[in-house]
Amino acid sequence: MSDMTHPKDERTLVVIKPDGVQRSLMGEIIGRYEAVGLKLVGMKMLVPTAEHIEAHYTLDPNWRRVTGEKTIKSYKDKGMTPPSEDPLEITAKILTNLKKYMTSGPVVAMAWEGAHAVKIVRKITGGTEPLTSDVGTIRGDYVLDSYQMADTDNRAVRNLIHASGSVDEANAEIAHWFKPGELTDYRIIHEEILYDVNLDGILE
Ligand code: GDP
Ligand code: MG
Repeated sequence: MSDMTHPKDERTLVVIKPDGVQRSLMGEIIGRYEAVGLKLVGMKMLVPTAEHIEAHYTLDPNWRRVTGEKTIKSYKDKGMTPPSEDPLEITAKILTNLKKYMTSGPVVAMAWEGAHAVKIVRKITGGTEPLTSDVGTIRGDYVLDSYQMADTDNRAVRNLIHASGSVDEANAEIAHWFKPGELTDYRIIHEEILYDVNLDGILE
């Protein structure tokens, strides 16, 4: 068995949000994570409840404050006035809109495993706001929403995907979305080439 502390054993949570399912981007999104060499170890489609979504976003007790502060800063950086100076008031609104968005239809929850899975998935997924997420990332290539549009229309920003932000967040989120028996340990042939130290299994 593999050593659980090795970076190749890292896992992360990805959720294809309702807009990703509706826009028929499931295959494209899954393909991006597969192509880089990550291994899918759990997957299910479901319509989440509002309680499940609120718990998901508040697994980190600092999320309300940090996200509120980040939002205020992003308004000020653009020379705009934030809707409130109180981070918690801002996040309450964001959370209400996220619950509406994330419960509007089926989502696909997935656990991906591989070297530096959390950071690799974030890199491929791209920045939170599609307006500024890099070209070549999923959020940069397949969607065009902005905080400005979302806030004007009083809705969540439609950015196709949720991806865990850190290893601790990933572990908490995977436990929130999957029961232990819903994750599968198995080997795929990619791993022989990605991680084998000697590459001594190719030539006959
Ligand atoms: P993620 O990890 O890249 O999804 O981003 P966060 O964890 O920081 O935020 C979670 C969700 O909150 C995002 O997907 C957005 O829907 C929402 N959100 C985060 N920051 C902002 C913001 O500055 N403005 C608005 N309107 N929504 C935000
Ligand atoms: Mg996050």
